[in-house]
Amino acid sequence: MSTLDDPLEPLLGRKSARALETALGLRTVGDLLRHYPRRYAERGELTNIASLELDEHVTVLAEVQKVSKRSMKSRRGTITEVVVTDGSRPLTLVFFARVAELGKLVPGRRGLFAGKVGRFNRTLQLAHPEFALLGGEDEDAAADAFARALIPVYPAASGLPTWSIARCVDQAISMWDGVEDPLPAELIERAGLTDLATALRLVHQPGGWADVERARQRLKWDEALSVQLVLARRRGSTAARPAMACPRRGGGILDAFDARLPFPLTGGQREVGEVIERELTGEHPMNRLLQGEVGSGKTVVALRGMLQVVDAGRQAAMLAPTEVLAAQHARSLREMLGDLAAAGELGAAEQATKIVLLTGSMPVARRRQALLDVASGAAGIVVGTHALIQDSVSFAELGFVVVDEQHRFGVEQRDALRGRAAGGTSPHVLVMTATPIPRTVAMTVYGDLEVSALRELPRGRSPIASSVVPVTEKPGWLERAWQRVREEVAAGHQAYVVCPRIGEGGSPTEDVEGELVDAEPTDGADTARRPPLAVTEVLPELAAGPLSGLRISALHGKMPAEEKDSVMRAFAAGEVDVLVATTVVEVGVNVPNATVMVIMDADRFGVSQLHQLRGRVGRGTAPGLCLLVTEVPEGTTTRERLDAVASTLDGFELAQLDLELRKEGDILGAAQSGARSGLKMLSLLRDADVITRARAEAQRVVADDPDLNRHEGLARMAAEVVDTERAEYLEKS
Ligand code: ADP
Ligand code: MG
Repeated sequence: MSTLDDPLEPLLGRKSARALETALGLRTVGDLLRHYPRRYAERGELTNIASLELDEHVTVLAEVQKVSKRSMKSRRGTITEVVVTDGSRPLTLVFFARVAELGKLVPGRRGLFAGKVGRFNRTLQLAHPEFALLGGEDEDAAADAFARALIPVYPAASGLPTWSIARCVDQAISMWDGVEDPLPAELIERAGLTDLATALRLVHQPGGWADVERARQRLKWDEALSVQLVLARRRGSTAARPAMACPRRGGGILDAFDARLPFPLTGGQREVGEVIERELTGEHPMNRLLQGEVGSGKTVVALRGMLQVVDAGRQAAMLAPTEVLAAQHARSLREMLGDLAAAGELGAAEQATKIVLLTGSMPVARRRQALLDVASGAAGIVVGTHALIQDSVSFAELGFVVVDEQHRFGVEQRDALRGRAAGGTSPHVLVMTATPIPRTVAMTVYGDLEVSALRELPRGRSPIASSVVPVTEKPGWLERAWQRVREEVAAGHQAYVVCPRIGEGGSPTEDVEGELVDAEPTDGADTARRPPLAVTEVLPELAAGPLSGLRISALHGKMPAEEKDSVMRAFAAGEVDVLVATTVVEVGVNVPNATVMVIMDADRFGVSQLHQLRGRVGRGTAPGLCLLVTEVPEGTTTRERLDAVASTLDGFELAQLDLELRKEGDILGAAQSGARSGLKMLSLLRDADVITRARAEAQRVVADDPDLNRHEGLARMAAEVVDTERAEYLEKS
């Protein structure tokens, strides 16, 4: 009898064990039992042939309709063509040589056929499929497993059809001792779960759909709980670290700022503000994610937190993903503070502090002065890129770090913050994101942070109208779009034209990170599309054509930082009418006078990205307009995505849509979370309920037993997640 850790070879024999290892990387009984069926075929039902995708490796349950043989012209031998059907559509199987059992493929016979889907003469075909026959006295011995009502269909590899895998699994299960359940009995009972050994058997050998459901429920729980345990422990250990307590002090810079605020805070801003005020007061670090639509007023909230910290005699740092954004943040913080940011200058307010911008591309002398201000504590607020933390910049007394735009700031970077504060304490951390994240993703991917959201926009914000400009169907609309740009400029406003690529003849992959194309699924099979439109190509065409006479500038990540900065400054000052840019304008850029944005090749961007981009217009009192230009025809999913973006301004709705359109792996991968490992069964989209309950259970267990000393099984489950995470991290770096 065997355990999950036993190697497969003694159980299955050398040949099968080798095949499983080579094709699928499965070495132990545990590996094999965790290779879950992708789906189940019902014995009486045939596979829908119309749903097959070209080039996919598939397993089809179908009935033989017709068999024909002809001899090959060039060589000796015969081709056998077998047409199978699902009852309505045909699928051709071609055999170029005689194979065993071929003679049993007679009309009316049913079987499983496995191979890669190809196309020939406009019908789908499988060349040299492997097959296993069902029914009849001579039912394939390999098809024992198929006597059941539900036939497991495994992720297969060529040379290793699903029924061979099923046979190995059956054999392994028949000699398996079972496994001690890692979950405490009371948890199993409370959550109404099946024990692990039963779940692992049922997932492979279900007697019906109810069994499948039971098994899946349990296996999903394990995945959700493992991840949530890791996150709960991470939250716990971070929260247990010491931090600088920064209690609010009356009569300081925060009070002075509040007294001057030209608008009342929204309810959401007040609420989140109170939470932040309380957490900054604590002796353990805040670790909070603040979500909020573009323009929902996150920056004000963060600034108030920073001022509380300055009042407590500590420093606050604000990190942005790019130097352009850092420069812009520094500028807008200074604007908001006015003479409260002018410490050391003539006419400074009494409670004033100093805001220092620190970037890698600053002239040496200025950088030296900035470093000095940071080290001496003269700078209450330091703004820079993420490099600020990774570099050996030394702070006098760093107490609080605000990170703008979390999606480029993962767990590893957050870890790097530990111990960066004075006296080896951890700084309080507030991560802000304008990308609304569906709840389940937030709980999993950013599960080591507490989450707050600003859901209402400040009053007086202008609505943004969005439309798709389908140039293939309505070529005239593009002309009209440029005309709208001219009208806005004539009315004293400004415009953005966004392109997916920088250009300069470089191949797309040479472009700067994040500015090329989003990792968004395109409609497949369109690799032959023309390259995406580029800033350096579009700008001269516009300048010479539809936008001639306007003041146009380019902005993209390949420009030297100084130049970028001066272009942004000129645009902000109204000296540039039209900014032709890449996604560098995606985040943080705030020019309220800009009212129209034309996004070229809009189909090349992701849903969330488009939503972010359009948030750059309509930030002032005049209404905003966003035009999504595309050549993609109607009726495609890509076009549907664009229509969806045009139809709603609700970021949470779009985030949900984005999630549905992506593969789960993409979400987890892109989020750099580390929690991406081990999710085979669990769906962030459909299993919100399991995730929520597992999170609560994990929290409860960890609160009571932080190191899981009294929960050996759970400790092992968590350790597996961490191991995979570490392995992936090492692979990446
Ligand atoms: P976010 O960082 O969430 O994109 P900001 O904090 O930059 O949003 O705010 C966007 C604009 O709205 C800024 O010009 C800011 O001064 C203004 N604003 C913020 N809060 C309010 C409020 N409560 N009422 C009116 N305007 C506000
Ligand atoms: Mg902002």
